[in-house]
Amino acid sequence: MAANSIIQNVYETVQKRNHGETEFLQAVKEVLDSLGPVIEKHPEYVDAKILDRIVEPERQIMFRVPWQDDKGNVHVNRGFRFEFNSALGPYKGGLRFHPTVCASILKFLGFEQVFKNSLTTLPMGGGKGGCDFDPKGKSDNEVMRFCQSFMTELSRHIGPDTDVPAGDIGVGGREIGFMFGQYKRIKNEFTGILTGKGLSWGGSLIRPEATGYGSVYFAQEMLKANNDTFEGKVCTVSGSGNVAQYTVQKLNELGAKAVSLSDSAGSIYDPDGVDAERLAFVLELKNVKRGRIKEYADKFGVEYRDGKRPWDIKCDCAFPSATQNEIDGNDAKTLIANGCTVVSEGANMPSTPEAVEQFVAKKTLYGPGKAANAGGVAVSGLEMSQNSQRLSWTSEAVDQKLQDIMAAIHQQCFDAAEEYGVPGNYVAGANIAGFVKVADAMLDQGLV
Ligand code: NDP
Repeated sequence: MAANSIIQNVYETVQKRNHGETEFLQAVKEVLDSLGPVIEKHPEYVDAKILDRIVEPERQIMFRVPWQDDKGNVHVNRGFRFEFNSALGPYKGGLRFHPTVCASILKFLGFEQVFKNSLTTLPMGGGKGGCDFDPKGKSDNEVMRFCQSFMTELSRHIGPDTDVPAGDIGVGGREIGFMFGQYKRIKNEFTGILTGKGLSWGGSLIRPEATGYGSVYFAQEMLKANNDTFEGKVCTVSGSGNVAQYTVQKLNELGAKAVSLSDSAGSIYDPDGVDAERLAFVLELKNVKRGRIKEYADKFGVEYRDGKRPWDIKCDCAFPSATQNEIDGNDAKTLIANGCTVVSEGANMPSTPEAVEQFVAKKTLYGPGKAANAGGVAVSGLEMSQNSQRLSWTSEAVDQKLQDIMAAIHQQCFDAAEEYGVPGNYVAGANIAGFVKVADAMLDQGLV
């Protein structure tokens, strides 16, 4: 059977089994669409039904999370963990706490994570989890009670050699701390079952910075391959959470200027750039006061764009760092028309298929999330290594390893795109390079 028909059959089964799960189907389609040339070259993957197996999570866990608010009212949320693929190592991937969390979103994230983790060159399988809990507006005590209830169930399913979750949207240092404390209490074990931990209790230097820094390093590699640098480049950034904050910091260090930030309510445009002093304000605003990005506009007298994303602001490079499907086909056209030539995805799947099509057609230097934001999970992998050795590496050592890993990921994507006849296409390059390693490991391990 021709490669295209094989891929189409697999996709139709995925559609039937995962009816209505639009984000998951979007992520699967993008990967499958890249794999035609791989299937043609490797009939052994077809015989062993690697495609059919790789789209099905190894295990799906769904559970009730009851907790009490400060007034004594009882709430019930729904928790999940998708243990997607363990061919390369223990399941690894973040936990997301956001009211939109559902099976479709976590399955798309878990699926992407399998290929992303493969690209890091570290021994990690892929997984993702979370809950439809909304941390916004909750007191620290409410967040703690929720995290304790969530971990009470999750603790049955994870372990340092089994599954090691981390943070994602709505899960930062505070939440990781509360969950780690509860796990330790239940199991009577101080062990590396989560990454993104506090520095004094097993965390790695540079882990908070890693996703944002990594996305900038990936863009730097794409620029380098085109004999260019960040010097003087105007950059738009979306989001104002963990990834956006450290994207801005690294852009400033490398001589670029970040002119926007956003949250779910709107965006700010600061034509002079979010410098170190203004960034310190954002960190305090978002990580301590847990306020809205509008307060940046009020404080510094810059434009606040209610309900608008930053993609109509003229820029050389764009760093989507908020959430999935935040750049649609029209946004992509506007970015390209305004002279944007580099897009590096700090967020997971922030571009719709129509936007990706535009970037690929117009030869934008487009780094897809599974490659460009792999720095976070890469340093999580380094945190696991340090925990196993009971050592802490210096920030310089971790940052250097992060830079080396991002350069290696870029090279793998670049080389795979060349080898399979789509030079310069980092989407196909990332999907192919990530897939081949997992597929080979699955072949070696037999029918599991
Ligand atoms: P945070 O929770 O720290 O920040 C998320 C930011 O995105 C906030 O500014 C939030 O605004 C905004 N946002 C969230 N949902 C929406 C929405 N539906 N529409 C508009 N804005 C939204 O999360 P992170 O910075 O950790 O994660 C950002 C992205 O990066 C996600 O896609 C995540 O999967 C990805 N990522 C994160 C990694 C990490 O290490 N943290 C690793 C790899 C990828 P508001 O406060 O209003 O909700």
